[in-house]
Amino acid sequence: MTQVFLRRKISPRVANGHPWIFANEVDRIEGEVNGGDTVQVFGHDKKFIGQGYINPKSQILVRLLSRNREEVIDEAFFGRRIRACWEYRKKLGYTENCRLIFGEADAMPQLIIDKFNDYFVLQTLALGMDKWKPAIVNALNEVFSPKGIYERNDVPVRELEGLPQQKGFISAPFDTNVIINENGLKFRVDIENGQKTGYFLDQQDNRRAIQHIVKDADVLGAFTYTGTFEIHAGHYGAKSVTGLDISENAVQQARRNAELNGLSDVVKFETANAFDVLKQWTKDGRKYDVVMLDPPAFTKSRETIQKAITGYKEINLRGMKLVKPGGFLVTSSCTNLVQPDLFLEIIDMAAKDVRRTIRQVCFQTQSADHPVIRGMENTHYLKFLIVQVL
Ligand code: SAH
Repeated sequence: MTQVFLRRKISPRVANGHPWIFANEVDRIEGEVNGGDTVQVFGHDKKFIGQGYINPKSQILVRLLSRNREEVIDEAFFGRRIRACWEYRKKLGYTENCRLIFGEADAMPQLIIDKFNDYFVLQTLALGMDKWKPAIVNALNEVFSPKGIYERNDVPVRELEGLPQQKGFISAPFDTNVIINENGLKFRVDIENGQKTGYFLDQQDNRRAIQHIVKDADVLGAFTYTGTFEIHAGHYGAKSVTGLDISENAVQQARRNAELNGLSDVVKFETANAFDVLKQWTKDGRKYDVVMLDPPAFTKSRETIQKAITGYKEINLRGMKLVKPGGFLVTSSCTNLVQPDLFLEIIDMAAKDVRRTIRQVCFQTQSADHPVIRGMENTHYLKFLIVQVL
């Protein structure tokens, strides 16, 4: 097997078990380099570090799959890993829907699999993982006997790996509008054309966190997508709920979801740019008991992080202005570039600017089926905060 030797000074990141080896961390390679192949990685002192897949086209030259020198990376390996991931989710109480595989946090770099009851959506975002797609699909078939498997590899990062963007059926074709149950509600998931894998499972535990504060409340939710938080608010007894999204398609889906749950009278949706509308409604003197914000990642690169900070501050400031004294702001951020401490700082700045005191109710992260590996910053990406705005 090809052997990759690292430079004498390796970053603490690799020493502490991070699975990415950047090209500039490598001293020399002994053996052939074929994109997607399994290679062994050693320190400068020739101590074994791990084995993983290599891609000379990628800045991340190797991604480690195993720290065990004896472990054979073959079809059975993927079967074992997928079973272990499912056992873990079941232990945490997930039965119907969950992120079954969360890439690096499950020691399966660049593999994402979401389970929507009997349907599976898969993303293989690196060449070395893409190569094992048939093994992964076999394992899914063995463990779950799924009704359908769909590939959502229409993601730009694949191009950094020399892979095409593509999507389509991996199983026999099926109706890609599936209905899932979450917290006693029903949601339609558009596997083929929805955002990312079709549905944001990462907020499924957080959606329950609004249960008590929305009772009898007038609720505004911006960045609603398919209306999940807003429909939960209706279900938990809100007096009125308005959900906003810039995408007309999202709003239509959100309306259908409200109907599906018999909540159309209480939960309404509008197509709008949240930045503009929140500003206008403040001018108009509107007030809400609860304002919920779940914006998209405002940046994907460290170079433009200031843009994200400005975006988060601005939208939260506008949100807070609309909250009645003693009401609540429910606010999220989904970029790992803004780590939890920085997010809290941004919220504090916004509160200071609007001269309101905020009292923290809860501060959470993504749901437990998207595990956080301590010390692996990019696995800790979602911030979910509820504050009372005094
Ligand atoms: N809360 C949702 C996920 C939101 S994803 C859930 O739990 O499922 C972010 C959403 O913000 C997307 O649907 C996107 O269309 C919307 N969006 C992006 N920019 C916006 C803007 N300026 N105003 C309103 N919505 C916006």
